[in-house]
Amino acid sequence: MADISFWGGVGVIGSSKILIEQEGWRVLLDFGLDFSPGAGLFRQGVKLRSAYALYDRLKTGQVPLLPHIYRADAMHGFPLAAGTDHRTALFITHGHIDHIGLTGWVDPAIPIYCSPQTYQLMDALAAAGDVPEGHMPSLVPMEQNVGLTWGPFVITRYPVDHDVVGASAYAVETEDGVVAFTGDIRLHGRYPERSRNFAQAVHGARALVIEGTTLSFGFGEAPRTEGEVDQLFVKAIHETPGLVLLTLYPRNLERVQAFLELARKEGRTMVWPCSMATFFRSWGFDGIVSFPDDVDSDSINRDPSKFILQVNPEFLPWLLELPVGPGSVFLHANGEPLGTFDPQWDVLQDWLKFLHVPFWPIGTGGHAVPDDLNRLVEWIEPDILFPLHSQEPDRLIPPPGTVRWLPQRGGRRYPLGGRT
Ligand SMILES: [Zn+2]
Repeated sequence: MADISFWGGVGVIGSSKILIEQEGWRVLLDFGLDFSPGAGLFRQGVKLRSAYALYDRLKTGQVPLLPHIYRADAMHGFPLAAGTDHRTALFITHGHIDHIGLTGWVDPAIPIYCSPQTYQLMDALAAAGDVPEGHMPSLVPMEQNVGLTWGPFVITRYPVDHDVVGASAYAVETEDGVVAFTGDIRLHGRYPERSRNFAQAVHGARALVIEGTTLSFGFGEAPRTEGEVDQLFVKAIHETPGLVLLTLYPRNLERVQAFLELARKEGRTMVWPCSMATFFRSWGFDGIVSFPDDVDSDSINRDPSKFILQVNPEFLPWLLELPVGPGSVFLHANGEPLGTFDPQWDVLQDWLKFLHVPFWPIGTGGHAVPDDLNRLVEWIEPDILFPLHSQEPDRLIPPPGTVRWLPQRGGRRYPLGGRT
């Protein structure tokens, strides 16, 4: 009989880790880092010791105590079996830290499957010096819609819509039926048909593990689409006589591409911090301009109406020598600081107040709103529903015919066979 257990994403947004086991074989879906700025033992300048970072995480309960996952050379005597048992494989849904961030500690002999775009994304980030904690993971690009056999399992990857390129969902065929995992998913992005096609492909699954990020956000208006974000970006350019400041999330490369094209049409040059520029060039974008190498503060001061400048929090002091004020604008398009939960959010607001720069949030979320989560469950009609990756998973109520199990973290194994 197959069973499933949950080693992350329980009661929290992010850090998903789902283990499916059968006959001693194991499939691990996602291996993310718990991303919670300003919380935990390691904060306010207290950092993991770089050579002992995995040990520090194991000792403080920040990573699952699962045998035969981690690199032997990073254990430093921690009492847990290290190295592969040749029966474990990892499958990563997408290149966000809370889903891929721990793969740098995985034994390199364990295959870590992901989409070709996720592979390329991690490669381009590495070229810009952004490598996951530990080591560069040995990722294996995997075709979509084609089953891959691992021991008794057959695993299929489906592209879905999320705010990062190459996002995928998975279906794992076990002897007790299919386990479907959405990864992070939405229906209001550029490719809602991908999410719909996945739902269709796994209709009638034995179990559905679904993300529930927005369940704790309350029921608001319909979400803004990526198309509407593009329109707001253009509107902001039209209404701003001076310099446009921006923070967007670099891994949302589809939005980066859209903004680059829109800015070009409007006669503005987008200017990026060097590390972001290196990342975008490695990804393959043409005409990327960096600050202060290609365009410096003198050029921007000469004609602020010609530029859009990405401002990451560490760049804020540069604004002191740039032409900013009521005639400019700061567009928040889901970049850093990511949200009000981040201690840097208030710092940014203080700077903008000090400089008299208007603040305009124009972004949209990467996660399905509650109505769309319900829609996905209704389309898939699973026997068992596991809401995960949410602070309030109990807000997702399944339709008749589906039982809901609220996952507990670690240890507890839920059998997939038998009566539900
Ligand atoms: Zn994500």
